[in-house]
Amino acid sequence: MPKKITEECIACGSCLSVCPTECISEGDIYIIDSEQCIDCGVCADECPTEAIVDA
Ligand code: SF4
Ligand code: SF4
Repeated sequence: MPKKITEECIACGSCLSVCPTECISEGDIYIIDSEQCIDCGVCADECPTEAIVDA
């Protein structure tokens, strides 16, 4: 199951730099490409607002 980013996102960028498949895109709320996400969970561990959850 891929991850998704919720409205809790504060656009800090922490998840972007750690994603091994580079499937996170910048925005007012960051976006995960579910086709490329391998559900490793690294991004969720880095997120300060717990905005990244199972999709
Ligand atoms: S779960 Fe892993 S692959 Fe998916 S967006 Fe997060 S860091 Fe990237
Ligand atoms: S780490 Fe969390 S708050 Fe920061 S950009 Fe990613 S989803 Fe948004």
